[in-house]
Amino acid sequence: MFSFNDIEQYHLDLKHQKTSCKTAVQFYLDSIASQTHLNAFVEVYAEEALNRALALDNLRLEGKVIKRLHGVVIALKDVICYKDHKVTAASKILNGFVSMYHASVVQYLLDEEAIIIGTCNCDEFAMGSSNENSSYGNVLNPIDNTKVPGGSSGGSAVAVKANMCMISLGSDTGGSVRQPADFCGIVGLKPGYGSVSRYGLIAFASSFDQIGIFGNNIKDVTLVLEIISKTDDYDSTMNQKQSLENIYQQLEVKTIKNYRIAFFKEVMNHPMLDFEIKNQIKNQLDALKNEGCIVEEIDFDLLDYVVPTYYILTAAEASSNLSRYDGVRYGHQTSEKTNSLNEYYVKNRSEGFGKEVKRRIMLGNFVLSSGYMDAYFTKAQQVRTLLIEKTTAVFKNYDVIVMPTSPVTAFKLNEKKKDPVQMYLADIFTVFANLTGIPAISIPLFKHNNGMPFGLQILSKKENELTLLQFAQQLSTQNKN
Ligand code: GLN
Repeated sequence: MFSFNDIEQYHLDLKHQKTSCKTAVQFYLDSIASQTHLNAFVEVYAEEALNRALALDNLRLEGKVIKRLHGVVIALKDVICYKDHKVTAASKILNGFVSMYHASVVQYLLDEEAIIIGTCNCDEFAMGSSNENSSYGNVLNPIDNTKVPGGSSGGSAVAVKANMCMISLGSDTGGSVRQPADFCGIVGLKPGYGSVSRYGLIAFASSFDQIGIFGNNIKDVTLVLEIISKTDDYDSTMNQKQSLENIYQQLEVKTIKNYRIAFFKEVMNHPMLDFEIKNQIKNQLDALKNEGCIVEEIDFDLLDYVVPTYYILTAAEASSNLSRYDGVRYGHQTSEKTNSLNEYYVKNRSEGFGKEVKRRIMLGNFVLSSGYMDAYFTKAQQVRTLLIEKTTAVFKNYDVIVMPTSPVTAFKLNEKKKDPVQMYLADIFTVFANLTGIPAISIPLFKHNNGMPFGLQILSKKENELTLLQFAQQLSTQNKN
């Protein structure tokens, strides 16, 4: 029987021939096959993954030095390009589309001898918070099948939680890695904007999108971050000086550090915040204070503006990014007869896109239209600048900001689907990091009395994932003991 703890232990077991890559892949394939009701995968590369596992096992037997992700079984969200494999963003409009190249992150994973096991279900074009907007159907929460797994990277979160892979990649434009990690009780990291190449990630809102990592523990997530954060000439928005080369070795600090921690008054007093989530996080903050950390409440009077600002700007960017799907250059083509090119575009797009994507395209075109541009788009850009300035000022005095990842635990399927505004408002604590471009992580520390897990969200200064991860590691080790 195969069991996975972390990558380091797995590599030791491989070294001592207690297990093999083939055993690991077979275990995950069986696990995927026995849990198809969760609908986490869009496609599984069973034969290919087994062949690669065998090849890697042979390499080891020949005595070759293994690479850092040797035999690590990884799943990809269906928005990340893997050469010669289908990628559809869970949309009918990309039905049958095959990627012509590797996303840079995929190349980096393969270079380190990882095994890609398949692609994971998600909300269409990564738009959603519950994985109820996929052309492949809903994904179910493995802890309670009547609940959503979160979104938009719901399949990737479930794949890790339900033992279908060791690590998965998702994308986080407004919380799509952290919120499903929170709902499923695992670790979910959104690196800072510019820390990981977006080349080969299907774009939703380009100034917000980041590829993120799901894992069972912070160590593994850190190792994968170190690997996928390599600088990349194909993404001009990447940080020029990359500081993440040796973060894995620096993760464990010998002496416990007393961090300076801020939390926002408006967040902790927010009417949408579940009472028990609030209490357990308050207790955690008290415990940190007792241990010697500086824990201070600060004002953040812009909180009410983050959701509207996020939805205006991301819809605007999405309406532009998604204009390429016209059925001529990409994607679904109508089988009905049309009389003009315009009608042909309209038919292709009307048939290919789902409801939520159409809503965002319309909203985006509206806020960019000449009569409303200043009132909405320009105003939202100004708010974004204010948010960035305010956040930079906070990090002059504090190492990290701490808050809940979501105001509620995983909700019921169909509970919020009919009311998009309610769905959007639930993103209130995650969109802040994307608006400001800072790194953020959700770590699974708590259990609600309704039986569901929930996490603590930690945020740090841009280009300072190290502090974020060290603090997260210290906290989760303390909570285990
Ligand atoms: N729930 C948010 C949205 O629907 C976030 C999505 C994401 O991060 N991809 O826009």
